[in-house]
Amino acid sequence: MHEGAVLSAGGVLVQAMPGCSAKTLEALDLRAMLFSGISRDLFEDPLDVLAERWFHDLDPVTLGRQPIRYYCGCSWEKARAMLKSVGPKQLLEILEQDHGAEMTCHFCHTRHTFTEQDIKALLGSDMH
Ligand SMILES: [Zn+2]
Repeated sequence: MHEGAVLSAGGVLVQAMPGCSAKTLEALDLRAMLFSGISRDLFEDPLDVLAERWFHDLDPVTLGRQPIRYYCGCSWEKARAMLKSVGPKQLLEILEQDHGAEMTCHFCHTRHTFTEQDIKALLGSDMH
């Protein structure tokens, strides 16, 4: 963190493939403590350099690279399905008390709003 901004963040995920020796697993387990400062390490050195530093004795091979991005798969339709799952009784209460609903995604903070008409449509689709 620098003046409230995240400069880097990261983690290491290890998945042992079939045939991985106990010796290799133990070697990986022992170096877990190396990753406690990984965010700083990633800020200071490129991943290639770090991989070589961390896994030099295990002959690391880069199999591919993928850009990463922040993404949330939520949508109004998915929120609507969740809203519908509360059941007709609760939907009627929402309709009578609030005349609409709003759901905020826990991950990306997108607000999904539902009008009175949207809720009535949900109730209507329940009857079929
Ligand atoms: Zn979201």
